[in-house]
Amino acid sequence: MKKNKEKKTFQKTLDALSKSKKYYPLFFVLILLLYIADFVVCRMLSVGGNPPPIMLAGQPIPLGAITGAVSNLGNICIILLVVFFGEIGFYTALGILLLQFPLVFQSIIVHHNLSNIPGVFGNILTILAIIIIYIRNNKANEYQERMRDQAVTDRLTGLPNRFACSELLDKLIKDSKKFALVHIDINSFKGINSTMGYESGNKVLIEIAKRWKNIADAGTSGTLDFVARVNGDEYVLIIRGYHSKTGIMKTIKHYEAVLGDRLTIDGCDFFITASFGYAEYPSDAKTPDSLFSYADAALTEVKARKSSVHILHFTPDLLKTERTLEIEGKIRDALKKDSLFFHLQPQYDMSHKLRGFEALARIKDADGQIMSPAEFIPVAEKVGLIDKLDSAVFRKAAVFFGELRARTGNSLILSLNASVRHLMKNDFLEELKELLKSSGLPAEQLEIEITESIMIDSAEKALQCINDIRAMGIKLAIDDFGTGYSSLSYLSNFPADLLKIDKSFIDKMNDSDKAKKYVEAIISLGHIMGFSVISEGVEEPEQLETLKEIGCDLIQGYIWGRPMPQEDAEQLVLAELSTE
Ligand code: C2E
Ligand code: MG
Ligand code: MG
Repeated sequence: MKKNKEKKTFQKTLDALSKSKKYYPLFFVLILLLYIADFVVCRMLSVGGNPPPIMLAGQPIPLGAITGAVSNLGNICIILLVVFFGEIGFYTALGILLLQFPLVFQSIIVHHNLSNIPGVFGNILTILAIIIIYIRNNKANEYQERMRDQAVTDRLTGLPNRFACSELLDKLIKDSKKFALVHIDINSFKGINSTMGYESGNKVLIEIAKRWKNIADAGTSGTLDFVARVNGDEYVLIIRGYHSKTGIMKTIKHYEAVLGDRLTIDGCDFFITASFGYAEYPSDAKTPDSLFSYADAALTEVKARKSSVHILHFTPDLLKTERTLEIEGKIRDALKKDSLFFHLQPQYDMSHKLRGFEALARIKDADGQIMSPAEFIPVAEKVGLIDKLDSAVFRKAAVFFGELRARTGNSLILSLNASVRHLMKNDFLEELKELLKSSGLPAEQLEIEITESIMIDSAEKALQCINDIRAMGIKLAIDDFGTGYSSLSYLSNFPADLLKIDKSFIDKMNDSDKAKKYVEAIISLGHIMGFSVISEGVEEPEQLETLKEIGCDLIQGYIWGRPMPQEDAEQLVLAELSTE
């Protein structure tokens, strides 16, 4: 054990010596001193005939023995010089050895000191030895260099790989240099692989790498950049030498822009886009691991948003907290066990006639507590489970409502919440068709609620999808109206049926005349666009009065009905039908 430790320490010393040129002058001086001492003693021997021995620990040591020891020591140091200091060591050693020849020859020829003749051969042998060592060392170094290159290079693209990236990060952090770490993912790359094959996919990755390497090598972005491929279709960009956040954005946009240039592979044109998430050292994180995961969190958010924003800076709220992880686990569990369920909240017209219900997702905790959607819906959106969650509610609520309709013959409306991610799925319409078929519900009894943020983020695709939904005869509601930033131009283009005024406006409505006028204006606007208007979150009789007065069409709120289990909803429907 101890031996092993010693071996390691020794190896460390050797490594340190061979990496650093710090000890070179020391070695050089030591060798010089040894040779000077050797030369002086030799001189004493040849000039003085038989000089007195040196006393060492009370013992007489003849001078001849000392010159032998000193010159051997010198030769060992010469060899070490070559071993440790590579080229510079080799040439110094060679110089020292060659320099000795004139002195030795002078001693032999001028002073007839034949005892130096073996020294000449010794020198020649040492020269041979250092040449061999030098050549072998060089070969070993070349091999090591090649191995290192392979270990830090991505085979496919020739770019540096994740190891190289980590090495650079360590170095930059050690030097306390400011930099930004950008994690990049090529959008829809799976699609390229599956439609065109892996070979074409690889060519796309190589071409992207080539374009980005050109920028980094030529420095055309205006910053000092390092590009690496870290995994599949994921790259990393390390940016240095910028002055502000704008500088980072400028550089990233420069890299994004070259993706837009036509990319033709095997006769096919590819339109490549990428998502970029980044974190900064030292302001966001101080270790490579956290920088990687923070940049990754920003990238995940870009992908989840599916919006026109392709570049995002990390912010702490993007991190999955312990609570988020716990909720994510519960959602996954509920989906796996198919235990997700729904409550139904009634919607009424102003004369208190039942119009229909909104289905609201519910998840039960292990201890039987019902979790609030306000808590789990944002998590489901963040971790990309919202479309699955939506679909589960769609399926279950439609089946229940279809059966209820078959039993009672009601013509009430079932309203279902669709997330952006869900609506943007290519098979969304197929899912709706299947839903109508399996539940037996007529299209006009189904309503899809979308939030106005869809209009901002993905207006064109959303518009197409909404047109298709309505063409099927399904109703469309704009949920939480007033909380987003949609402009009138968006709204005027939207072929919806119902505008749902967010609860926050209803809450404030009776506080001031201005607030009341605001709600009145929304209602008028909705009517101008041809929509019915429903107010959400109505709790107080005064609110109800005001809404009647300003022309609201429908009500959804605790005042007339909270979200309720299926059985209660069924009772409500039966009671309603009996009064007709
Ligand atoms: P939302 O679609 O605007 O649903 C209305 C929310 O307002 C419901 O909250 C409902 O319980 C609440 N509410 C209705 N009337 C009142 C009232 O008078 N007072 C108060 N204080 N609250 C009232 P819930 O069930 O907690 O749902 C919250 C949000 O979660 C929903 O808002 C919706 O955006 C989302 N959500 C619920 N289920 C789903 C789902 O299946 N899919 C998706 N994508 N989102 C869902
Ligand atoms: Mg809703
Ligand atoms: Mg709402």
